[in-house]
Amino acid sequence: MPSYQLSNNDFPNLPTRIKGLGGLAENLWWSWNPQARTLFKMLDRQAWKESNHNPDLMLKQLSAGVLARATRDDNFLRHYDLVMYLFEKYLNERVLYPEFELQPDALPIAYFSAEYGLHHSLPFYAGGLGFLAGDHLKECSDLGIPMVAVGFMYPGGYLNQVINRDGWQENFTQKVDKDAASISRLLTDNGEQFCVRVPYINHTPVEVGVWKVSVGRVGLYLMDTDIVSNSDWVRAISQRLYTSNVTQRLLQEILLGIGGSRVLATLGHDFGMLHLNEGHAAFALLEKIREFVEQGADFAQARKQLAAMSLFTTHTPVPAGHDIFPFDLVEKYLEGYWPLLGLDREGFMELGRHPDNPEAGFNMTALALRLSGNVNAVSQKHGEVTRGMWHCMWPDKAEADVPIDYVTNGVHLPTWLEPKMRLLFNRYFGEGWINVHDNPAIWQFIEEIPDSELWQLHYWLKLKLVNYIRQKARDRWDTGEVDPSQIMGMGTLLDPSVLTLGFARRFATYKRADLIFHDLDRLKKIINDPWRPVQILFAGKSHPEDAKGHELIHRVFEFARDPQMGGRIAFVENYNEQLGQYMVHGVDAWLNNPVPPMEASGTSGMKAALNGVPHVSIPDGWWLEGYNKNNGWQFGSGRKGSDSGRDRDDAAQLYDLLEQEMIPLYYEAAEDGTPHSWVRYMKESIKSTAPHFSSRRMVKEYYRKFYAQVLERGSENCGG
Ligand SMILES: *Cc1c(COP(=O)(O)O)cnc(C)c1O
Repeated sequence: MPSYQLSNNDFPNLPTRIKGLGGLAENLWWSWNPQARTLFKMLDRQAWKESNHNPDLMLKQLSAGVLARATRDDNFLRHYDLVMYLFEKYLNERVLYPEFELQPDALPIAYFSAEYGLHHSLPFYAGGLGFLAGDHLKECSDLGIPMVAVGFMYPGGYLNQVINRDGWQENFTQKVDKDAASISRLLTDNGEQFCVRVPYINHTPVEVGVWKVSVGRVGLYLMDTDIVSNSDWVRAISQRLYTSNVTQRLLQEILLGIGGSRVLATLGHDFGMLHLNEGHAAFALLEKIREFVEQGADFAQARKQLAAMSLFTTHTPVPAGHDIFPFDLVEKYLEGYWPLLGLDREGFMELGRHPDNPEAGFNMTALALRLSGNVNAVSQKHGEVTRGMWHCMWPDKAEADVPIDYVTNGVHLPTWLEPKMRLLFNRYFGEGWINVHDNPAIWQFIEEIPDSELWQLHYWLKLKLVNYIRQKARDRWDTGEVDPSQIMGMGTLLDPSVLTLGFARRFATYKRADLIFHDLDRLKKIINDPWRPVQILFAGKSHPEDAKGHELIHRVFEFARDPQMGGRIAFVENYNEQLGQYMVHGVDAWLNNPVPPMEASGTSGMKAALNGVPHVSIPDGWWLEGYNKNNGWQFGSGRKGSDSGRDRDDAAQLYDLLEQEMIPLYYEAAEDGTPHSWVRYMKESIKSTAPHFSSRRMVKEYYRKFYAQVLERGSENCGG
């Protein structure tokens, strides 16, 4: 194994007494530990904010004076010593969960994903799939599950959204400053870029640079083709996430699967199981087969060996979510590869054919389903739907016996639970509750929190959200480049005392962002009620090439700035992790109304629910498992198809629900100013959601169903 060193790890400007801040900044553990975040904030609040909560950048920019002052500040040093103690303890405490019978020499799980949502200072994500991956890594780290992960650095940058004067989405990209983030460049011993050579592609090897992100105890390696030794076309491969250029996309997926495997092999990370988060990395399965063939197996034997050590998690019933590449394109780039697997052209293409539509092209989901020995969907319902969709792969089996299991998604509680909420729970749940937060018994203590205390905290979080949105609008106004109606549409007139619904998600048509506008007269009556008004916050981006999604945003934005809506509708620009945090903490209820059964699971509603923001949703995804009649609301016929009658009926049910249940509960007058019946829903929401829809519960299920096979067996038996 070639040796390498990590860049970024020394901060020569840090005084010895607080030298540990450097290591802390380089491990994302800080991002889900409020005490560590507070420590950075204590150093210099303004600089912390200006760095966009990026400790690496902030530490590099702080003046010697500020740092020297910190070394003389007893209060700061006390916090510093505590955080460093907790950090060291976290990194070194190997076995957190005795219920796992981990073999000490077990090989780690290798996790492959095209995107990771970890923190807003690391924009390598597009949406839900990325956050699921990020939360999965954090949880594996917390649980002490050995894991190594692979993904991409997208140097082209992150797509930011603004709404222009005409009410249309415009995108601008923001480059990632790779050398000022909580990531480290891998360098050779003489300080040059450490590269991994990826052979096979069109006979021309490609070099990728490698970055490391430390996610607690889990190492995540990001590949980057944008390095000086590469030609322009190679540099462009990893430019952008989910490009619609089919060649570029195929090359990305070859690099993610095959290149990612080469990176792990080069760095000496042998693994016991391959876990694919969605089909983008399915070529990693082939690369494992190639290794087995190289060691002397034939294709059939290699395939069998691979099956025992592979897990494919499929995420979407939406057809556009499944990549299909033209056969001749696959041939162009991979014709040198299939002989290494012991296959000819047809044998190779066969692996990617959809049984019902074999000429459509090389289907990455079909490839992943054929070669992975374990497959799971991401909710109970999604399991059912996926078995139906792919029954054709197992024509001899009854649909119910199609070997596709499910593990319902969950969210990383320390990341998504608002820190003040966490402090409140600390007071009532007893010491150490956070370590056993998937135990429903702990959450019964929610009953001991006085209604008024929970309500006041929620109200404060709503104020924070409204202030944040208005400040964003003010910043735009200050540029002098927007007109008043635009600013009105962005939330200037929001009122924190009003019942507030939140709707934040990608603007894909099946999510029906405009459902609530179906009957405008009825909606206007509801939101403009002088005594009991309602306001609705929208946020979300549309894929740059999704014209329908753009129209949907336009439609919602035009409503938001329509004076007849009274400023009660707002569209907030640039939905990202940070805005997402504010919204799931601060709105009163979380609205979800996709066309069933298109939402495989959904996770934003879980984030909201565990913060006391009840879910109001049609029956789909995780809500089919989460709803218990007391912890939120359900509406809609559950009807599929696309008839406008369905939208009309679903919208009517939503209006009924608002008028007859939610509004009266929220505005219920009480002498102490606390709407006790509403708080009842908040408490039920927290206590039913937090333990079950946490990534703690989710990862333990992955462990029991899949990972344990290899992790409890020791390395000599792994992978055959
Ligand atoms: C959680 C999250 C998502 C995914 O939520 P869905 O409910 O699956 O739409 C997308 N974007 C951000 C910023 C998130 O935090």
